[in-house]
Amino acid sequence: MASITWLGHAAFVVELNSKMFLIDPWVTNPLSPYKSIESFVRNYHRIDYIIVTHDHGDHVGESIELLKRYRDAKICAIFELAEYLASQAKAIDRSVPGNIGGPIKLSESITLVFTPAHHSSSKGMPSGVILLSKSFSIYHAGDTGLFSEMALISELYRPTVALLPIGGHFTMGIREAVKAIELLKPQYVVPMHYNTFDVIKADPTELSIMAKEKGLDTMIVILPPGKTYKFQVK
Ligand code: ZN
Repeated sequence: MASITWLGHAAFVVELNSKMFLIDPWVTNPLSPYKSIESFVRNYHRIDYIIVTHDHGDHVGESIELLKRYRDAKICAIFELAEYLASQAKAIDRSVPGNIGGPIKLSESITLVFTPAHHSSSKGMPSGVILLSKSFSIYHAGDTGLFSEMALISELYRPTVALLPIGGHFTMGIREAVKAIELLKPQYVVPMHYNTFDVIKADPTELSIMAKEKGLDTMIVILPPGKTYKFQVK
């Protein structure tokens, strides 16, 4: 079984093969159902991996504090950022530093791969991330503009579901996201990184309409913040 819970902005909880992943953990973002770290921790008793795509505040979020709360959680990020966050949390033994394109075997059944992202980051390269199991793969694009290597991501990792930014200004907008769907060919897309602030206002139903107009058969799953979508995995 796999499930994805959107917490608003770029923050997701992903459950895959009984492991709990928290991606870009700004868990108290303005759209989030959690108004404090405490209320998040009360709801999620276990997090196995915290993944951060780049060092902007709206993606690092509360990762240092959460690493202190979840004493068994590992921090996965591009080398410089993983080492920085782990040292700030006094958890250097829990750092899983990686780099773009290098598959990292997290367990017998799950591999993590950092992908390129066209964006900026002061500590390490900006990235997206793929979580890969035998029959399911999730691509979280991070903050990025459109790039043609998404076709390679499709070919190599066949994303079951792609989490794509659609808010524009700092990342892809809807027109670019439709092209990304064309390149990635995922079965499902969950839109993210929109409506957190005025400058990234977007209507995700436009993405569904434009994808349909282009004849793409990807299912667009528009999640309200806090909602979980479950996938049946063979
Ligand atoms: Zn950013």
